[in-house]
Amino acid sequence: MYLYNSATHKKELFTPNDPSLVKMYTCGPTVYHYAHIGNLRTYIMEDVLEKALRYQGYPVKRVMNITDVGHLASDADTGEDKMLKGARREHKTVMEIAKYYTDAFFADCDKLNIKRPDVVEPATNCIDEYIHMVSVLLEKGKAYLAGGNVYFDTSTLEKYYVFNDHDEEDLAVGVREGVEEDTNKRNKNDFVLWFTKSKFEDQALKWDSPWGVGYPGWHIECSCISMKHLGDDLDIHCGGIDNAFPHHTNEIAQSESYLGHKWCNYWFHVHHLNVDYGDGVSKMSKSKGEFLTVSLLEEKGYDPMAYRLFCLQSHYRRNLVFNWENLDNAAAAYQKLVAKIAALKPEGEVDAAAFDSLKQRFVGALDGDLNTSLAVTAVYDVLKAKCNDATKLAALADFDYVLSLNLIPAAQALQKKQAQEEAASADPEIDALVAARTAAKKAKNFAEADRIRDELKAMGVEIIDTPQGTKWRKV
Ligand code: AMP
Ligand code: ZN
Repeated sequence: MYLYNSATHKKELFTPNDPSLVKMYTCGPTVYHYAHIGNLRTYIMEDVLEKALRYQGYPVKRVMNITDVGHLASDADTGEDKMLKGARREHKTVMEIAKYYTDAFFADCDKLNIKRPDVVEPATNCIDEYIHMVSVLLEKGKAYLAGGNVYFDTSTLEKYYVFNDHDEEDLAVGVREGVEEDTNKRNKNDFVLWFTKSKFEDQALKWDSPWGVGYPGWHIECSCISMKHLGDDLDIHCGGIDNAFPHHTNEIAQSESYLGHKWCNYWFHVHHLNVDYGDGVSKMSKSKGEFLTVSLLEEKGYDPMAYRLFCLQSHYRRNLVFNWENLDNAAAAYQKLVAKIAALKPEGEVDAAAFDSLKQRFVGALDGDLNTSLAVTAVYDVLKAKCNDATKLAALADFDYVLSLNLIPAAQALQKKQAQEEAASADPEIDALVAARTAAKKAKNFAEADRIRDELKAMGVEIIDTPQGTKWRKV
């Protein structure tokens, strides 16, 4: 499988450190509010990546953190903790907020068929691990104490900007965010590992540490949680593209300084879902415009699977523009797809050669940097293929392990609904007349057939001749 690696800026053949277990880490949600569908785009594409690896035979262990402390309003270590903001908004405690929005996040994931990672670890569970890593970084001279906080010293690194050659002046944290610079920092890119002092004093969650009572910085949690569950060598680290800098850049800085060797081989970044309501494209956010959640889509009558298809139809390394018209198109495409599958009959034996050739196209799409839009095309190729329906159904069920669009269950549900509708509208008198008309037509008694048609018409029944036989409906 070829994957684009943000760290090398190239597509590379994915080769795990140990093929008997692929180690995958995902930055989890900050649970101060519902996830918007942009956040969920990232989780959908990461889910596809994990399933594509499993589909190709790799066992995978995937770990995700839940950020319930330390993510400040600005990624530049300033502002209030997002969790505290959420708690104040809802007059609840931080832990109540964390529990509520963690559950809400996984409920959304369930609706979108996003598999739960093997390990889910709340950041507040790993305080000892943070204290240990920060102590080692201090011992190694990679960190320093200033104004009560512990900072990572970026001047100790050979290379800090790993993902992009940022213009230092433009992108330096603080300058970039338009916020006041922290005068404790020796270098402008230095970041906080452990806070005991910040501009706001009412941080709800605090723990004792060798540097005083305080709380961890946001970046340290992902390094420690990853190492706790996946060890010192990571195969793939995933996240949204906005996490590349400074979050992932800082994760690499501290992890490799702590370990003394390379940490993660592949960096997988999903680009953003943007919004466009006719007044220009802008990044989706929780505070701007309509707060788009899975529940809102459902309230408006959309099947969450339509949103999943919408995401799969575009490549993860392109920004995707959301508007209602685009979602309507995906919803219509999904309904059509399910209807076509519902019309297949599970008859005959699976043709192994035909199945393999269909599968090859699907695997080829995934192998080319997780090209999900081509993988969706491979689904349509199945429907058009010249093989029997049993082979088609087997291929669709196989592909849906990765796509997770509920293709077969949704088609079965549609078949059931159609059968129920037919049964509900059954009318023996009309059925008898329709059968008599069919018999008359067969006997070439067209005058009688037309008479029966007129009789039915007078009863308000319309006859529809289809290749599958004559159907009727009340008009
Ligand atoms: P957060 O809950 O803010 O920590 O973000 C959760 C995930 O969503 C992170 O991986 C972000 O990079 C990602 N993300 C944030 N905004 C967007 C967006 N508009 N489109 C896609 N992913 C996003
Ligand atoms: Zn992270």
